[in-house]
Amino acid sequence: MTTWMDRPIGSAKGVGTEMEQKLARLKIYTVGDLITHFPRRYDDFSQIIPIREMKPGNVTFRGSIERVASRYARTRKLHITEAIISDGTGTIKAIWFNQQYLAKSLPMKTEVMVSGNLLFKNNDLALQSPAIEAISESKDTKDTARIVPIYPETEGLSSKVIRGLILPLLPLAATLDETLPQSVVNSAALVSRAEALREIHFPTDMETLAAARNRLAFEELWFLMLASLTIKHEIMTETAPAIEFQASIAQAFTAVLPFDLTDSQRKAAWEILMDLKHSRPMNRLLEGDVGSGKTVISALSAVMVMSAGYQVSLMAPTELLARQHYKNLSILLEKLGYETLLVLGKQTASERKAALARIESAGPMLVIGTQALIGDKVTFPKLGLAMIDEQHRFGVVQRQELKAKAGLLPHLLSMTATPIPRTLQLTVYGDLDISVIEGLPPGRKPIKTKVVGAKERAETEKFIDAQIEEGRQVYVVCPLVEASDVLDAKAAVIEAEHLANGPFKHRRIGLIHGKLSSAEKQAVMENFALGQIDILVATSVIEVGIDVPNAAIMLIEGAERFGLAALHQIRGRVGRGEHASFCFLVTDSKSTTAAERLGALEKSQDGFRLAQIDLELRGPGQIYGRRQSGDLDLQFADTTDSVFLALVRNEALNFLKMPDSLTKYPEIAAKIQSLKAVTSLD
Ligand code: ADP
Ligand code: MG
Repeated sequence: MTTWMDRPIGSAKGVGTEMEQKLARLKIYTVGDLITHFPRRYDDFSQIIPIREMKPGNVTFRGSIERVASRYARTRKLHITEAIISDGTGTIKAIWFNQQYLAKSLPMKTEVMVSGNLLFKNNDLALQSPAIEAISESKDTKDTARIVPIYPETEGLSSKVIRGLILPLLPLAATLDETLPQSVVNSAALVSRAEALREIHFPTDMETLAAARNRLAFEELWFLMLASLTIKHEIMTETAPAIEFQASIAQAFTAVLPFDLTDSQRKAAWEILMDLKHSRPMNRLLEGDVGSGKTVISALSAVMVMSAGYQVSLMAPTELLARQHYKNLSILLEKLGYETLLVLGKQTASERKAALARIESAGPMLVIGTQALIGDKVTFPKLGLAMIDEQHRFGVVQRQELKAKAGLLPHLLSMTATPIPRTLQLTVYGDLDISVIEGLPPGRKPIKTKVVGAKERAETEKFIDAQIEEGRQVYVVCPLVEASDVLDAKAAVIEAEHLANGPFKHRRIGLIHGKLSSAEKQAVMENFALGQIDILVATSVIEVGIDVPNAAIMLIEGAERFGLAALHQIRGRVGRGEHASFCFLVTDSKSTTAAERLGALEKSQDGFRLAQIDLELRGPGQIYGRRQSGDLDLQFADTTDSVFLALVRNEALNFLKMPDSLTKYPEIAAKIQSLKAVTSLD
C-alpha cells in the first residue's frame, strides 16, 4: 500500500532540484522521510515576556519595528542589519549579519514576534541574530513564541528551512493511520501516532512533547519485542532430542584437558548441559571475552550430545578459524573416541563427497565447517546440537533448515566475544538465554596498548625491530577499506611492500588477505606458526581465530576506522603466550572522538566495557545488526529505563496472548516478520 508518505520529496511544496539534493544529504528522499526527520533538541521560546522584564538568556517578546537599517561593514566584510523593536514597556536592539533582506521584509511598524538569546555587550543589552516573524492572524508562528524544534542540519539546510518544509505537512500527518492496535494504545495510555508526529515536531508544551516521545519510544520497542517473543514462541513449539546428563562423560572430558576449567566455565557448561536435558530446544548464547575459553565449553557440550548418539555441527565465520578448530578439537576428541570432520566449501569434489557420506551414515560425530555447512547440500540425519562461533545467533530460516529428517530441531548454541548489554538482551535478544564466562583463565598478562601518532612512528618501529631481534613475531593489520575484499587486499599488498622496502627490509615479511586461495592462506599461516615469518601483514581476516603464542606484537594501521569491539578482538590475537605483549594503534586522525575511543583501549582490556563504550558512541545498529541495521538504532527508547522496558514487554506479551492477534493485524505480522531478520545472519 503506498501513501503520500512514499511520494518523492521533490513532489512536496517548495522543494526544487537544489533543495532535493540538500535533503538527500540528510537521507530524506520521500515525504515520509521528511516527516520522520525528527528534531534533535528544542529551544523553549514559549514564554512571552515584556521587554521591561527581560534578563540575559533566551527570551521571546511581541513588539513592533521602530527602525530598521542595513549597512555594509567593509573591514569585517559583513552586511549588518540593525532593528529597534518596542513593545510599550521598553525598546531593544536586534542585530543580524548577512541577512540584509530582513530590512525590506520587516518595514517600520510591522508587528513581530521575536525569539533569541539576549546578550550583554558593550554596556548594552542586544539580541544577536534572533528569529523574527511578522505576526499574521491566519498563521501560527514557526520559529518564535513556541517550543522550537532544532533538527539535524546540513549545509544550506538550516532548522529554520526544515521547519518551513515540515509545518505544511502536519495537516496530512494528522490523517495518518494508527500503527498500533487501538487496544494497545488504550492499555498503555499512549497518544495516537498522528498526534505524536505533530507534537514531536511542533510541541504544544513540554507535557505533550513528553507524551509524543513516550509514544514513539513505545512503538520502537514494542515491535522489536514482538519479533523476539515470536521467535521464542516458535522455538518452544518445536521438539529437540533430550540429551541426558552423564556425570561420567563430563569427568572423562575434563580428565583429558591439560588444564582445569575455571569456575565461570563450569557454570556456563552446567547451564548448557541442563538445557540439553529438555526436549524443548535450547536457544543459548555463550558470551565470553576473547581468550576466555569458549571453545572448550562447546567441545564438552558436543561430547555429551555425541555420547547420546547424536551429531553436532560447529560453524565458524572463516575457513581459517574452521581449520584451527578442527586441528585442536580433533586431537582432543580423538582421545575420547569421537570422530571429527571438516567440511569446507572449497574442498575437492571427492573430499567433500567422502565427508558428506560420513555425515549421512548418521554416526555420532562433530562436523566443523564454515557457512558451507548449512548449505542445501549438507543434510544431517541426526543433528542434536548446532553450534556457531563468533555470532550472536542463527537466522530463523537457517535453523529450520537444520531440522533433522526425523523432524527434531537441534539445540542451538552460539558463541560470541561481543557481549550484548543487558538492555538489548531484554529487547531484541529477548528470545536468547545467555551464559557468560567471566574473566580469563588464570596467568594471562595484560597487553600493553598504546595509541601512536605520526610523530612516534619511527620510535615504535625501532621498538618492534628490537622485539623481533629477541625472537618475537609481529602482526601488522591494515586499515579497513570499505567493505571490499579487493581494496582490502590491495591495501595489504602496498603495506607489505612499504615495510619490506623501508624500516623492515632485513626481516621476513608475510602477507595474508581475502583474495588468496585457501591453500595459500593456509600455507602462510603455517609458515607464521612455524616462525618462518617475522612480520605478518594482514587484513582484518585475522580478527577471529588465529592462535600463535610467539606473536606478541600487534600494530594496527588506521585504527580509528575500526570499531572498539573489533579492535579488541584483533588485539586478542596477541597476549597468548608467556611473553610480554604489545599493541600499537596507529592513527593520523585529529578527531577527539577517535582519540577518546582509542584511549579506551589503552586503559581497558575488558571486552564488555569496550563494547558498552562502542554502543554508546556508535549505536546498536552498527554493532549488532546485519541487515536493515537501522531498525536497531533506537531514536527514542532509552534502553536503560528498565521500568519502561518491562511495561512494553508486558504489552507485547498481552498482545500475543490475544487469539488471532497476528491474523487480525496483517501489517503488524509483516513488520514482525521483517524484524525477525534484523539480527539474523545473511
Ligand atoms: P575464545 O573464548 O576466545 O574462543 P579459546 O576457546 O580459543 O577462547 O581459548 C583460548 C585459549 O585458552 C586456548 O588456548 C584454550 O586452550 C585456553 N584455555 C581455555 N580454558 C582454559 C583454562 N581453564 N585454563 C587455561 N587455559 C584455558
Ligand atoms: Mg573462539
